[in-house]
Amino acid sequence: MITKRAYKYRIYPNREQRNFFAKTFGCVRLFYNMSLDDMIKIYKEKKEYKDITPASYKEQFQFLKEVDSLALSNAQLNRNKAFKAFFRKQNKFPKYKTKRNKQSYSTNNQNGTVYLSEDYKYISLPKIKNVRIKMHRKFKGVIKTVTVSKECDNTYYVSILVEENIEPKSKTNKSVGIDLGIKSYIVDSDSNKINNPKYLSKSLVRLEVEQRKLSHMKKDSKNRDKQRIKVARLHHHIRNQRNDFLHKLSSKYINENQVISLEDLDIKQMEQDSTLSFFVADASWSKFVSMLEYKGKWYGRDIIKVPTFFPSSQVCSCCGYQNKDIKDLSIREWVCPKCGSSHNRDHNASINILNKGLDILKARTLPVSSLTLDSKESLSEKPPLL
Ligand SMILES: [Zn+2]
Repeated sequence: MITKRAYKYRIYPNREQRNFFAKTFGCVRLFYNMSLDDMIKIYKEKKEYKDITPASYKEQFQFLKEVDSLALSNAQLNRNKAFKAFFRKQNKFPKYKTKRNKQSYSTNNQNGTVYLSEDYKYISLPKIKNVRIKMHRKFKGVIKTVTVSKECDNTYYVSILVEENIEPKSKTNKSVGIDLGIKSYIVDSDSNKINNPKYLSKSLVRLEVEQRKLSHMKKDSKNRDKQRIKVARLHHHIRNQRNDFLHKLSSKYINENQVISLEDLDIKQMEQDSTLSFFVADASWSKFVSMLEYKGKWYGRDIIKVPTFFPSSQVCSCCGYQNKDIKDLSIREWVCPKCGSSHNRDHNASINILNKGLDILKARTLPVSSLTLDSKESLSEKPPLL
């Protein structure tokens, strides 16, 4: 399968290169804000949408000619996207770029204008050659676009979008059901229990202390600037650890299983619930699920999302009896009153999620005429009345 994949690496620009990047970030910001402003004016006066190009400012601002012109073109594309999303009412009004945000610009590889040195120690971009790069992993494929960014903690990165040919993995017969939770990050139908790393919760105390310090510091002071960097680094560290955990975990499930079944959690809605939001953000389920989905596509695995209204916790995975008492979240272990099987709440749920997922998969792959009554029912299932 031909697909695009992003690789992010830290770069170590020298002083001259840092100046070039600063100038490019500045020009991108200037063009973006100025043209956005002009577009809004035109829209207010004439009620029309006018796409303004970087060229229309180059006479007035000669220095725009000195930076990578693709960076400006990409800013133009992004601005148009933001503007159009706003018109379609999908998004808030486009925001102006500020110096306070992460600084970045994107450029494209045009017939080899972006390349790595033979020893993979340097990357060259349009108008800027041989920037030192640390490539912790290599890729095979064609470079399409590169985004250069400077984080709040003054570190620099490139995100390289590569077109790759990914070979599907050989099929296996194994399937797994996954129950995502707060107490344990995952309990699966193979009885694996993976604890929520809670990186955020562990670092939160420290983060809170550091953030409080920051808020008490005098504006525009040197110390405040130092503290701001410290806080940004801490955030960054937590994010990296979490991404690493999620990548390893999702790859493990993808490597071992042909079918992965999990609940289609309404994560958006959960994130808005204030009591749950911290845990949901910390656990970053939505990120985990999206990793499973795109890796599943790459490697030819089936990721099945089971509807949330399916009462996975309440049903006995041995006999199918629905035990309404289990709605009480504090019950972790229970014995089925009908068949006498003893259950761990989350493990039982994961088995039900697996079985439901396999039903859904079967219904998808069979021609409609050959559906059994049972799988027809599951296709048109209504939420149970609670
Ligand atoms: Zn039972």
